Amino acid sequence: MTRIAIISIHSCPLAPLGGEERGGMNVYVREVSKELGRRGIGVDVFTRAKSPDLPKVVHLPENVRVVHLPAGKVEPYAKELVANHINEFTRGVLRFAASQEIYYDLLHGHYWLSGLVADKLRETWGIPFIQMFHTLSKLKNIASRGRLEKEPRRRVKAEQEIIKRADLVVAASALERIQMNRFYGASMEKIRVIPCGVDVNLFRPIPQEKARESLNLDHENILLFVGRIEPIKGLDTLIRALAILNNDRTMQNRPPKLLVVGGANSGNGDQPVPKEVARLKRIAGGLGIDKQIKFMGPLDQKELPYYYSAADVCVLPSYYESFGLVTLEAMACGTPMIASRVGGLPFTIKDGENGYLVTEGEPAELADKVKLVLTDEKEKLRLGDMGVNTTKEYGWETITSRLLSVYSELIELQPGGRELEEEPEEKIIHEHAKQ
Ligand code: UDP
Repeated sequence: MTRIAIISIHSCPLAPLGGEERGGMNVYVREVSKELGRRGIGVDVFTRAKSPDLPKVVHLPENVRVVHLPAGKVEPYAKELVANHINEFTRGVLRFAASQEIYYDLLHGHYWLSGLVADKLRETWGIPFIQMFHTLSKLKNIASRGRLEKEPRRRVKAEQEIIKRADLVVAASALERIQMNRFYGASMEKIRVIPCGVDVNLFRPIPQEKARESLNLDHENILLFVGRIEPIKGLDTLIRALAILNNDRTMQNRPPKLLVVGGANSGNGDQPVPKEVARLKRIAGGLGIDKQIKFMGPLDQKELPYYYSAADVCVLPSYYESFGLVTLEAMACGTPMIASRVGGLPFTIKDGENGYLVTEGEPAELADKVKLVLTDEKEKLRLGDMGVNTTKEYGWETITSRLLSVYSELIELQPGGRELEEEPEEKIIHEHAKQ
């Protein structure tokens, strides 16, 4: 049986989503691992232990295990500090493999921190190593608005080194491939383009009335944002666009409402308001539209199809987005998508065909496009249908097949049976563990 070691040091595939540092990468690792396992590939996902309450090894159905190993304190801490514990984590992976007498055929690293681990493991094991970055610091730095958002030099250098040393690199779009070549000097020959995917069984259209009813939403004109709440996501632009719409005469009887799903918490109740949420609330307050915005906090992905389906339009106003899974999820639910023309977004959204693309940081342009969707029911339905069609080619099955064909450039794939036996002292779960 082919065995793959997936390194995802700071993004646990079992983590609840939406909060700080828990987003698209967690989903990608979770979905691809499950699909590889279903195809008879043995997968061990190595990730940092963040809580002493979680079992060291968690078995997922069909050939997949998540292995929690220490890297510094076994508690949540900022991902910037993970880089200080790469050697400890790497030693843990080596010890785990040795104690189980496991040999892996291939390493797959996610994000630069995991790339550092995978590179060290490769030196000991002598097996090929594939890397996927999810975001690249040089591109983030170009898009960032403030000095505090800049990524450290250490990360830039590490990415440069990993790109040089990995056997193959997976880019999420054709643009990212070119950017890796231009900004990091990566050889085009070693970069394969595979987009991210969407769970088309979970994300399906629900009739809007039914979705609104089940969420107790009686408002017309609902705008939706889903994602981590960070400056790079450009929510300030969306809030300013909402204020412009408020002053638009055609909208005055039906001022739109914005639902913001995601963030460490919504800042409601006893929890302290996260910094970016506080900044956004200040902007909204200054514009006099705070009552029209509801911060929902993080929600389980299973609830999201109701939110996407209830909304009239979903907006991703990011300054930089390597891919943007939320785009595919909204489209799969038949909700028109409006997103910035940055990074990987123009590869899924074709402007005017299955959604709209706008210039990042331009509220007036965004407001125009939102108004178009809100005031033209036929156009809204057309975009929704086109979106559903687009996502048909992005199911995780298809994406994993493409990934397997890249794996097979480096190793001979030998799918096997259920070789990963249950170990009595380890907990077996069939649902995502709560962290
Ligand atoms: N997400 C979620 N609950 C939330 C907010 C986000 O499950 O409250 C999920 C969302 O469904 C998507 C992912 O987090 O799958 C965000 O991925 P995306 O690529 O859009 O953004 P990233 O986190 O990579 O910047």
